[in-house]
Amino acid sequence: MALFLRRCWLAHGPSGRSLRRREASLGAAGPGTAVRVRFAPSPTGFLHLGGLRTALYNYIFAKKHGGSFILRLEDTDQTRLVPGAAENIEDMLEWAGIPPDESPRRGGPAGPYQQSQRLELYAQAAEALLQMGAAYPCFCSPQRLELLKKEALRNHQTPRYDNRCRHLSQKQVAQKLAQEPTPAIRFRLDKDVPAFQDLVYGWNRHEVASVEGDPVILKSDGFPTYHLACVVDDHHMGISHVLRGSEWLVSTAKHLLLYQALGWQPPHFAHLPLLLNKDGSKLSKRQGDIFLEHFASAGFLPAALLDLITNCGSGFAENQMGRTLPELVAQFDLSRVICHSALLDLEKLPEFNRLHLCRLVDSKPQRHQLMGKLRALVEEVFGSQLQDRAVLEPAYLERVILLRQGHIGRLQDLVSPVYAYLWTRPAVERAQLDAITEEVDMITQRVLGLLDGAGLSLTQDSLNRELRKLSADLPGTKPSHVMKLIRVALSGQLQGPPVAEMIVSLGPQEVRARIQQVLSS
Ligand code: GLU
Repeated sequence: MALFLRRCWLAHGPSGRSLRRREASLGAAGPGTAVRVRFAPSPTGFLHLGGLRTALYNYIFAKKHGGSFILRLEDTDQTRLVPGAAENIEDMLEWAGIPPDESPRRGGPAGPYQQSQRLELYAQAAEALLQMGAAYPCFCSPQRLELLKKEALRNHQTPRYDNRCRHLSQKQVAQKLAQEPTPAIRFRLDKDVPAFQDLVYGWNRHEVASVEGDPVILKSDGFPTYHLACVVDDHHMGISHVLRGSEWLVSTAKHLLLYQALGWQPPHFAHLPLLLNKDGSKLSKRQGDIFLEHFASAGFLPAALLDLITNCGSGFAENQMGRTLPELVAQFDLSRVICHSALLDLEKLPEFNRLHLCRLVDSKPQRHQLMGKLRALVEEVFGSQLQDRAVLEPAYLERVILLRQGHIGRLQDLVSPVYAYLWTRPAVERAQLDAITEEVDMITQRVLGLLDGAGLSLTQDSLNRELRKLSADLPGTKPSHVMKLIRVALSGQLQGPPVAEMIVSLGPQEVRARIQQVLSS
């Protein structure tokens, strides 16, 4: 690069030649053909809800239009890379059910998909810009730049580069290059910024040259800065639509100037409003647990997260709860995305999860998967405490899941202390029952009788009827005490699902065994 720059500068100086011919040889696809969108995070951290939202809207838009969803890792700032972040981003997109069609891991026709492996392309573009005089080498020392910044701050002005190296003569450049063969390259910001119509924010024009100095596009170490890399990649990857956070809206002016200088047709832009906490504060600042890993390990369903995120955003005719990904794709309409920030209410997540869990339980194959997960959870949480491994049988697990469907937010809830009775026998003393009522023998005998009752099928309805009769036959005992006694005998707890449901889920044999165990204690 350095050699090329020197040769080129010395031979031609700025030439102003158009890049159109050159670009044809680079084989780039322009917009207007297939929809190709990209999610372009920097692997400087693990995937969080803000990133998921951007990825999700890109995914939905791609699928809606039969296009491709691309994951590109913007890893040019090597000092900020976080180990494991690149893998985590791909893993979490897979987990969320929105896998990219092309990515570092999956490969694809426009790869490589990591910017650190595309340095040659940025160098080519920078050289082309140099040749045509749209960019220039900058020899300013870090000390000078720091001084400029301090001075601006002292004068209460926004720091900006003063474009000093823009005005070096050809001779001065040649002399300086001899001393410093790999200078940074700056892009000459033009005053004629094209206006553009953002698909969300409408017409936009940002006179960037009047508020900013010429930006560095290629650093002296050969790595590009964001603006150049983003434009070069969006072009070479044939990106048709750029859907990204609204924090990048002002940068678009710079990008358009780069497209203009390079003679490339820009993609369409749609900036997505910010995703904020319910109280309007910034997502990452106040919310500790916004990383997807946290939601995955806490047992939340990806479908619930996607539903919650789109529910608080816009892009749909109606604001419904419980939409699945295919429904989101079918109902999405980019023209319905509005500029208002999306306020995320994470307190609603358990409710969204409950709805999506119900859906899974309703589908037999999904229910079977849930049974497998529940079995693993039970083994993990109760492991050696399990007295009877029959609780791990599919029929038992399925019964529990079906009975608790609609009552639990997460599958994990079923292994919380309140449901421990489903998996292990509680240690209950006869004295605990005596403290509830004097009719322990009478009530327990009647319940045992019910279990043996000829022709009585153990449904919740039939049990409720019988339990009501039992209470009615004991005028000295409150019905609530009858229920409390059975509940304590079966679970050792004062709270939990309805008593009839407890009996049905445990089954007659186990209920009998538990009651007899308490009576003989
Ligand atoms: N790497 C940028 C980010 O971290 C991507 C911005 C864009 O999508 O152009 O958000």
